Amino acid sequence: MTDLLIIGGGIMGLWAGVMAERAGLKTLIVERDVIGAGASGGVLGALMPHMPDRWNAKKQFQFDALISLETEIAALEAETGLSAGYRRSGRLMPLAKPHLRTIALRHEQDALVNWRAGDRQFYWRVRDRSPVDGWLDNGVAESGVVFDTLAARVAPRPFLAMIATYLRQSQRVRIEEGRQFTHIDPVAGRADFADGRSEIFGACIIANGVDAFPLLDGLMGGSGSSGAAVKGQAALLKADIDPGLPVVFTDGLYVVPHENGMVAVGSTSENTFATPFSTDEQLDALLVEAAELVPLVRGAQVIERWAGLRPKAIGRDPMAGRHPDHPRIHVLAGGFKISFGIAHRLAEAVVGEICGKADDALPVSFRCEAHFDQMKS
Ligand SMILES: Cc1cc2nc3c(=O)[nH]c(=O)nc-3n(C[C@H](O)[C@H](O)[C@H](O)COP(=O)(O)OP(=O)(O)OC[C@H]3O[C@@H](n4cnc5c(N)ncnc54)[C@H](O)[C@@H]3O)c2cc1C
Repeated sequence: MTDLLIIGGGIMGLWAGVMAERAGLKTLIVERDVIGAGASGGVLGALMPHMPDRWNAKKQFQFDALISLETEIAALEAETGLSAGYRRSGRLMPLAKPHLRTIALRHEQDALVNWRAGDRQFYWRVRDRSPVDGWLDNGVAESGVVFDTLAARVAPRPFLAMIATYLRQSQRVRIEEGRQFTHIDPVAGRADFADGRSEIFGACIIANGVDAFPLLDGLMGGSGSSGAAVKGQAALLKADIDPGLPVVFTDGLYVVPHENGMVAVGSTSENTFATPFSTDEQLDALLVEAAELVPLVRGAQVIERWAGLRPKAIGRDPMAGRHPDHPRIHVLAGGFKISFGIAHRLAEAVVGEICGKADDALPVSFRCEAHFDQMKS
């Protein structure tokens, strides 16, 4: 018997493990393949805030999460002696048209009000040209640039490895790779596995990425779909660049400088696809665009081309919390494009709920009920 069974060894499942460890729960994390085998094992690792305008509970939750992540990572780095490749390097966004500059100037004011954490102020600065020479091609920024000081980046694989190492040192949390969950009895609290074994659990967190949706649909009797997979392709390049350079972002294209001369470029966003894990000419096109935007990556060696499936819940927002019909079952899924910045806070809320503590900061639209209502409508 385990207090808590966590299905999935991605960023969501691992943070759930950290929170369970802190809560003193005897926990088993099962991963059908290896840690990071799913979407979390990619290359990009951009930690991008929402726009600073039209502030709401969702934006506040993500803002607070992006701030607290810094402290969380520092603590785990100190515990493990490993690096997550985290840096608050900021973000540059070229402004190609005058009207975009007008809007950006409004956001500059919004950020002064909304991007505050205690005595820390983060900025959305509008400038005539990039504050960093030789990084962004100024030809693409005819109306100036935005430089935001809140955005950060993390190296996905070292980050996962660091959390997994922390958990493996724990007396309470066990990670079992190569264990595929196949069936759940939510009333009895029993999970069955492909290896023929079963686990009895007090609570279970479903955190298995895109595979969470068919599992949840099955629990609801198979009517409707609670979410879908959105394919993304990205690449890792080797270039002679300063790791402190800011992330460049425009129109869905990210250029993310990492440590040791690595630069990630991403990502496509594909709602329909024939082959989930292969890369194609869409990634080639993205690499061409990246080279136009950032001269330093022109001619850089492509180290890796990678594709994965993002979990997008029906309500578009992350899905977190207790299942409305099955009190033992909890969900931590649907992080879509922002999981890395918020997974620790979602996990804290979900594990807190299991331990009887409500987290009022969790936006209502994240709750399972909100998503399931959309399935019915
Ligand atoms: C190209 C691309 C770029 C991205 N860039 C960013 C970015 O810059 N910033 C950001 O925040 N997000 C980004 N994302 C999104 C992010 O990667 C995902 O939202 C996140 O990784 C989802 O984490 P997860 O733990 O929910 O799922 P996953 O990482 O997919 O983990 C789920 C795990 O569950 C396991 N599993 C599945 N079924 C079972 C089973 N039956 N039994 C046991 N285990 C099972 C899988 O093997 C997998 O390891 C990107 C995604 C892609 C594809």
